[in-house]
Amino acid sequence: MARVGTLILIVTAQQRMSQHQHQTVDSIDSVGVVGAGTMGSGIAQVAATHGYDVIVRDIEQEYVENGFETIENSLGRLGDRDSLPDGEDTETIRNRIKGTTELDDLADCDLVVEAALEDLDVKRDVFADLDDIVGDEAVLATNTSTISITSIASATERPERVVGLHFMNPVPIMEGVEVVVGEKTTDEITELAHEFAEALEKTTWESDDKPGFVTNRILMPWINEGIRAYDEGVATKDDIDAGMELGTNVPMGPLTLADHIGLDICLHASETLHEELGDRYQPAYLLKRKVEAGELGKKTGKGFYEYE
Ligand code: NAD
Repeated sequence: MARVGTLILIVTAQQRMSQHQHQTVDSIDSVGVVGAGTMGSGIAQVAATHGYDVIVRDIEQEYVENGFETIENSLGRLGDRDSLPDGEDTETIRNRIKGTTELDDLADCDLVVEAALEDLDVKRDVFADLDDIVGDEAVLATNTSTISITSIASATERPERVVGLHFMNPVPIMEGVEVVVGEKTTDEITELAHEFAEALEKTTWESDDKPGFVTNRILMPWINEGIRAYDEGVATKDDIDAGMELGTNVPMGPLTLADHIGLDICLHASETLHEELGDRYQPAYLLKRKVEAGELGKKTGKGFYEYE
């Protein structure tokens, strides 16, 4: 009985793969975004700026509206700086984006990027629901920073069409996108993910579905070591940041960057990596203390530095 079940599953997956052969980025017209927070609003904005019809879903109307406010402010700044693509204006771009609180409204999307909370259960629930709602041809992508693509994909009946599209913050400004390949992601969907990011004028690189992918696997220990160096009195915070900026040619030192990302986000990512990769990823004490004290960085006005 189990063998028959397995065979049916294999045949269904093969049928799906052959039905979808040669799918290219030209087959994508409408893009769904789940989550209208920092990343979701940025992804929606960039997709609309490049001509896609976009629908953004959040759980409360208030969050959807906050997302639109972020998008309008960002488009306004880019418009003032003449940084929108030729022939595009803020209103046309804004009008390509619709907001909703109903996931069902994403039914006609060709590609959906999930940018909800960094929580496996939340993401698995979203993917299981999306799997029932969108068409068989649709591609499901997640913007997760640290969670396994394979574990998110296994909540669906189409794990071969699930891929990581890890945009960087702030999405309208940062050039890079990390394409993350799950255990079952097909080559075709991986290629499509690269092409889609390139259609948004981003530059991509690829990572296997290993904890932290390329970026956070290397970035989080760097940030934690900067915090430890400060805590152990190696240098002042300004000198730690200056040393890394001037000495290694990065645009921001670890303490400034941690404040920009959000200390809670850094702690959460470090804890996930610690769980998966062991002691060398242990979060710095001072990172935990700052989060406990509510000093989360730029967004709360205080982290390692103070902000107006
Ligand atoms: P955020 O807290 O700003 O936004 C998340 C949004 O998702 C919130 O508005 C929340 O209401 C909404 N949400 C929660 N459950 C939902 C659901 N079931 N359906 C729809 N919306 C839901 O978070 P963020 O910083 O935008 O992060 C989103 C994702 O992007 C996370 O997985 C995070 O790890 C990843 N990411 C974040 C950054 C960053 O620097 N902030 C960078 C790269 C990737």
